Amino acid sequence: MLSVDDYRDGILAGIGVLAPIELPLSSAHGCVLAADVAAPWPLPSFDNSSMDGYAVRSADVALASAEAPVELTVVDDVPAGFRSTEAVTPGTAVRIMTGAPMPDGADAVVPVERTDGGTATVWVSQGVDSGAYIRRAAEDVVAGEIVLTAGTLIGARQGAILAAVGCGLVFVHPRPRIAVISTGSELVEPGLPLRHGLISDSNSYLLVAAAREAGADAYRVGPIIDDERLFLETVEDQLHRCDLILTSGGVSMGAYDTVKAVLSTLGSVDFMKVAMNPGMPQGHGFVGEENVPIITLPGNPVSSYISFENFVRPVIRRMRGLDDIMRPELRTVCEEAIDSPSGKRQFARARFVPSGAVVPTGTGQGSHVMGGLAIADALIVIPEDVTRVAAGDTVTVIDLRSR
Ligand code: AMP
Ligand code: MG
Repeated sequence: MLSVDDYRDGILAGIGVLAPIELPLSSAHGCVLAADVAAPWPLPSFDNSSMDGYAVRSADVALASAEAPVELTVVDDVPAGFRSTEAVTPGTAVRIMTGAPMPDGADAVVPVERTDGGTATVWVSQGVDSGAYIRRAAEDVVAGEIVLTAGTLIGARQGAILAAVGCGLVFVHPRPRIAVISTGSELVEPGLPLRHGLISDSNSYLLVAAAREAGADAYRVGPIIDDERLFLETVEDQLHRCDLILTSGGVSMGAYDTVKAVLSTLGSVDFMKVAMNPGMPQGHGFVGEENVPIITLPGNPVSSYISFENFVRPVIRRMRGLDDIMRPELRTVCEEAIDSPSGKRQFARARFVPSGAVVPTGTGQGSHVMGGLAIADALIVIPEDVTRVAAGDTVTVIDLRSR
């Protein structure tokens, strides 16, 4: 049996960062920049007022006080987005709003709070220093400056500066497009009535959502019945529209394990047993002339999820151009005992309690126990050579609350 790490390394060896494309800024959130971005203009791009008030010559109001206010003639009124056609000359002021360009002749802004707020004339009751309340051109970013470097993940704050420097099209590594095909003749579209022996297809929802949470554009195909021709056609149909195919089910030792049966004959997909619990049967490779990567996940829902976390999430993050492709791990106390099979790495579903310790969730660690998976926010990693975690032991935990 292959170790979890060796199996993951084998998959990642065939996965590169997706080739960059130009996307509208509005679609680039969550993508990684493929090139440095330089500011074509400075920020601010013109001297402007940082307050609502009056643009003045500071010398005019130097002696202003509550007892001896100074009166100025208001010669213009500039909201943000407009430009004053009047210059400020001795004895005059321009009423100005935050963000409006400074008029010629003025060297300071008196905040409205220091005045009577007049519109024809204004009484100023406290002076300002030269330069006060002016946001100077280029004090934030100079023209030509690199504002973000290649490799930066575009989140809200990064999107803001791209917008500020007018970067309407962004050169980024795109989100991987992922087709999720669930297989199994027992599977029914959720919401439809179930005959005895049938179950709702939960894996495709699980995998699409998990892939989206990992930053992919994922979509469901299927569920499809265990039929070799139908499976092959379905896969072929997806080849030209996605960067990765994920399948669920049909990779064990059963008589109707279609996925394994079909893809084994293609020769470019390898099936193996990985020393892990849950999730032992795994497969990965490439399909079609396009050499689209495919990862075939086991059908048991918990196995499918644990396999996704271990093998698919890192692939998605690699394709996106991220450096840290693994979830953070931490060490904490496990408050209850857990048994673990010898020779396999176990990923026990667990939940953080307020103290920061973890407790296993659900009715045991069976690969079908979905209730326990649904309330888990941690995976306890129990090493291959450990067969029992005792209550109070310190364990390694994958934090599923992380991004
Ligand atoms: P398989 O890997 O196809 O042998 O399936 C293993 C177990 O997982 C069986 O009990 C299946 O019914 C179940 N299973 C397979 N696919 C799904 C799915 N999409 N949703 C929920 N359970 C599934
Ligand atoms: Mg099956």
